[in-house]
Amino acid sequence: MSAVQELSMPVRCSFCRRSHDEVDKVVAGPGIFICDGCVALAAEIIAGAPATHGAVLPWEVEMPLEQVLATLGPVAAAGAQVEENLGVWVRKARSAGATWAQVGAALGMTRQSAWERFSGEE
Ligand SMILES: [Zn+2]
Repeated sequence: MSAVQELSMPVRCSFCRRSHDEVDKVVAGPGIFICDGCVALAAEIIAGAPATHGAVLPWEVEMPLEQVLATLGPVAAAGAQVEENLGVWVRKARSAGATWAQVGAALGMTRQSAWERFSGEE
């Protein structure tokens, strides 16, 4: 397995969960991804929505319990994707010569914590 393959991970839109081969384009952010379809939908919502000051936080909106429960899985999936992507970036940093102390400092944790979380060793 090449270094590129070792660093690769399945890319899914963090919003709709479609894989990169189910959409035309995917834009990467810090541990997250968004597909062209979700960008277009977001642009429609923004263009059609009245101007608001400040964010409308979805967990503060009244909704039926079923909708709240249906949201838990996608939120967990997005969190798992971010965690997996963080591991890819840590392996990339390590492959480029970063020490565990440097990785820990970049993540605001100790060298030991970074090693325990990302080394895959006991
Ligand atoms: Zn999407």
